[in-house]
Amino acid sequence: MIMNVCLVCHKKQQHIFAYQGFDYSRCGNCQLVSTYPLPSTETIEKHYAKRFAEGNYRLLRSYSERYKAVYDDFVTFSRRG
Ligand SMILES: [Zn+2]
Repeated sequence: MIMNVCLVCHKKQQHIFAYQGFDYSRCGNCQLVSTYPLPSTETIEKHYAKRFAEGNYRLLRSYSERYKAVYDDFVTFSRRG
């Protein structure tokens, strides 16, 4: 089964491929790619814990303080109105 409505903007999605029991679809409006069925929270936690342990996000973590500084500046800026 293919979920054909975007979770974010509720516009129509297009099926792009199937892989390991999941159908992947892309929203024609916001370009979000999502899976059907949605993985459970437990499945997502296991996936990312394994990926972190394997070092898949090493580069991202090396920049995390810089990203946080940019994010904090953005939040401060956006709250000024
Ligand atoms: Zn969308």
